[in-house]
Amino acid sequence: MSFTFHPLFLYLFRMIDLHTHTIFSDGELIPFELVRRAQAIGYTAIALTDHLDASNIDLIIPRIVKAVEALKPHVSIDVLPGAEITHAPLEMIADLVKEARNLGAKIVIVHGETVAEPVIKGTNRAAIQAGADILSHPGMINIEDLLLAKEKHVFLEITARRAHAFTNGYIAKEAIKFGVPLCINTDAHSPSDLITAEYARTILLGAGIEENRVDSVFENSRSLVDKVLRRSNAQGDKKESQ
Ligand SMILES: [Zn+2]
Ligand SMILES: [Zn+2]
Repeated sequence: MSFTFHPLFLYLFRMIDLHTHTIFSDGELIPFELVRRAQAIGYTAIALTDHLDASNIDLIIPRIVKAVEALKPHVSIDVLPGAEITHAPLEMIADLVKEARNLGAKIVIVHGETVAEPVIKGTNRAAIQAGADILSHPGMINIEDLLLAKEKHVFLEITARRAHAFTNGYIAKEAIKFGVPLCINTDAHSPSDLITAEYARTILLGAGIEENRVDSVFENSRSLVDKVLRRSNAQGDKKESQ
């Protein structure tokens, strides 16, 4: 007797979401509850990426790092402390990205030029030049920025978030055309914003991504998580040997 799995079964335990918010910015949940709820709907990894500017960066990242460190031995999913640099003047973006990393953020996002908000023009470029890990909801990103994102291997985001998602189809098409890596995130602010991998797959297909490319988007997120974990293990080893 042989078993065959429904193809969607493969999506049950694959969700990786590298863009979420807690009460430390404008999310509804404290970190422990957000992680618990993510785990309960089948996530394999989550990053906590609150909105940051110069006022709160040194308050929030250490709290998120503390929550993540406390949880780590007790949860089976990968939980990463992160940051989303939000509505910063262009000249400040590079320094804020650097400061976020120094404070312990493992996934650094810059809040991109969504068509739903008056984000400063040039934010996409500044984020890519600053070496952010992910440019969230980059809106009608231009060709120069697409080429630069490819060169710097900055991930562009397909989003499950209302309104930011208006340009998903454009971003998917252009990123694939120019060979820029894509990821899919929820930008969750409340528990009902978390999604299953199966729903994420539907959003990717809805953005016009062909069925045979959908897996590669999940794999991109996995590779980013693995890279970050390797980097932080190496840093941990270095600290121990000092
Ligand atoms: Zn928000
Ligand atoms: Zn966000």
